[in-house]
Amino acid sequence: MTDYLFDTPKVQSIPVKGEAAEYPVHRIFCVGRNYAAHAAEMGVEVDREAPFYFTKSPQAVLASGSTLTYPPGTSNLHYEMELVMVIGKPAFRVSVDDAAEAIYAYGCGLDMTRRDLQQAGKDKRRPWDLGKDVEGSAVLSPLTTAGKVGQIGPQRIHLEVNGEIKQDARLSDMIHGVAEVIADLSKFYHLAPGDVIMTGTPAGVGPVVAGDKITGGIDGLDPIALTIGAPE
Ligand code: MN
Repeated sequence: MTDYLFDTPKVQSIPVKGEAAEYPVHRIFCVGRNYAAHAAEMGVEVDREAPFYFTKSPQAVLASGSTLTYPPGTSNLHYEMELVMVIGKPAFRVSVDDAAEAIYAYGCGLDMTRRDLQQAGKDKRRPWDLGKDVEGSAVLSPLTTAGKVGQIGPQRIHLEVNGEIKQDARLSDMIHGVAEVIADLSKFYHLAPGDVIMTGTPAGVGPVVAGDKITGGIDGLDPIALTIGAPE
């Protein structure tokens, strides 16, 4: 046994409906601009050739129902409602046809974003990390195993702030579908159990302030909720 000088990081995990054990999080990949209407509201072109990605630290996981302290360094914290899929078997250089077998479960996620810092990164051709890898910014609902979900496509995806609908779309609006994303990502990474993929957000993103209550859902999956707390 190796001795460590400091406490080791806690393993972050996500509850799975019907399972006593939880899904342990290893990596978090996020797809950018996967809905045409969202790319348009961001003022950018969609790349239909291939998806692109950014990442969040596993320690950014926050359980649905939590309060997120308004993060430091921003005055424009945005919500992004997303379908989340998690990997259940190794996938490296898999075909689109084989990719779906690697999906263990689905859930709802919020990709909370320091939009002002993300925009500054874009403007200066710098990485998005300060905008996207925000502590507590990967908000995840309990997972539903893939066999209980059925074909991804017709399900409604929606988000409300204080009960007012802000995002409302269908999963079929995704430019790159779930199997396509896994097949593409598996060209670059040895995907394995523990890998979480946030699949991008529909149009209607916007800011939240302390005291706001976010709710969201996707047909057939556990809903998600987040309260925004006062800044430190
Ligand atoms: Mn996102």
